[in-house]
This record gives sequence, C-alpha cells and structure tokens, in this order.
Amino acid sequence: MRYPILVANWKMNKTAAETDSFISQLKKSVKKPQATVVICPPFTALQAAHAGLKGTPFFLGAQDVYVLPKGPFTGEISIPMLRELGVKFVIAGHSERRKSFKESDNDINLKVKAACEHGLKPILCIGESWDDRKEGKTNEVVEKQLSAGIESLDEREARKILIAYEPVWAIGTGNNAQPGQAQDVHATIRKALEGAFSKETAKGIPLLYGGSVNPSNIGSYLKEKDIDGALVGGASLDPGEFASVIQNSRMKADARQ
Ligand code: PEP
Repeated sequence: MRYPILVANWKMNKTAAETDSFISQLKKSVKKPQATVVICPPFTALQAAHAGLKGTPFFLGAQDVYVLPKGPFTGEISIPMLRELGVKFVIAGHSERRKSFKESDNDINLKVKAACEHGLKPILCIGESWDDRKEGKTNEVVEKQLSAGIESLDEREARKILIAYEPVWAIGTGNNAQPGQAQDVHATIRKALEGAFSKETAKGIPLLYGGSVNPSNIGSYLKEKDIDGALVGGASLDPGEFASVIQNSRMKADARQ
C-alpha cells in the first residue's frame, strides 16, 4: 500500500495572512494525513506557508519557476530562491500558463529539466481541450505534450517527476472527467512513459488527475489503477473542504505489475 499524492494549487489566491490562517486551521483538522500533501501558494505567501508548515507532514510547492539561478530576468523567481523557502515541488506547464502566458512545450521542458537537476520535483501538467476531445485527439495531444515535456530526461531525472493529467475542460468548471475516462488517459500516459524509460521507472512515476476534484469524487479517482493522486484547485482553497479531500482519499493498493 502507498499514500496517494494530493497537490493543492491555489493559483492567484490568498495573501500571506490568509495563508497563515488556512494553515492553522488545516493543522487542527488533519494531524496525520494518510496522503502525501503538497500545498502550492502564490510566491508572496511561500514564506508564511514555510513558517506555518514547519514540523508538520505537509510539503510546500511552487506554482512556477524560472530556469536560471539568477540574473537579469525581471519578475522571475529561481530554484535557489524557492529552495531557501523550503519548496520541494514545482508545477510546470499548467494549462493556464500555456494559454494565458503562451508557455511553449520547450519552455516547459526546460523548467522540468532545471527542477530535476537542481533539487525540485516537477509536476508536469498536460491535458487536452474540449475541442481536442470532441475531435478524438485526446491521446495524440496528451502524448505530444508528454514527450515534449520529458524530452532528454535521463532515468535518474525521470524518477523525480510527477505528471498531472488535467483535461482543460474539467479545470474550474465542475465538469470533472469520469474516473474511467481519466484512467484511460492515465493508461496511455503510463504506456508512453514505458516507451521513454525503463518499466520500473515508468511504474514509479506518480500520475495525478486534476479537474474539479472535490471531497465527494476524490475516492472514485483513487480507485483507478493508474491514478496515484490529484491536483486540486478550487477545493483546496477552503481548509475544511481540503481537509475533507485529504480524509476521503484512500491508500492505494500496489496493483501495477
Ligand atoms: C487546477 O488548477 O489545476 C485545477 C485542477 O483546478 P480545479 O480543481 O478548480 O478544477
């Protein structure tokens, strides 16, 4: 048995003071999570989150990162800056960054590689739009984003990554993918990973589902063989609701061979 992985993506929500209050409440309601829980606040709240999470089993993540350690890159945040604040994970290639900030597959690959090389675990986000799905292109789109995102990673680096399958049409809409639909895509992702790395490495890469996950549906995703956890947006903003997501998640039987 192993713990599922639950990643809270707060997006552009919560000040440092609000973060402080969220963490105090979460710590009171979840003392021993049966899950690996990662909280990704905005950059300005990382310091508060770091202080609040000290001595707890919760991990800290960032929502984005720049690939170089320092220099003339106005507005960017580097890996050493994140690590100094206790950050262990970083989201790379969220669909909102792909769409609103025109991040390319190549930009995202550089972030994934830099994170692996310099001590962060990247959470590579991939997923199709509604039009892609309607046109029967889901697997094609997801495989393309995956292969571009993991391009030139070696086995050692691959063992540090997580993949989040997030159908764009399910993010923030309440229109979550059915667990079986998500499992089908996760199986495609697992197969593609087996083509890129050893079977052992591919088997160990956590695959998270993201898109309108909430306390009522989390359990049904975690029953699926290739769904190892979830990336949670809206339902991670309220400490009570996120505590319920954690409590309703279940240990995963190691069903994969
Ligand atoms: C996300 O932000 O990655 C996400 C999955 O959001 P939501 O849970 O709100 O759909």
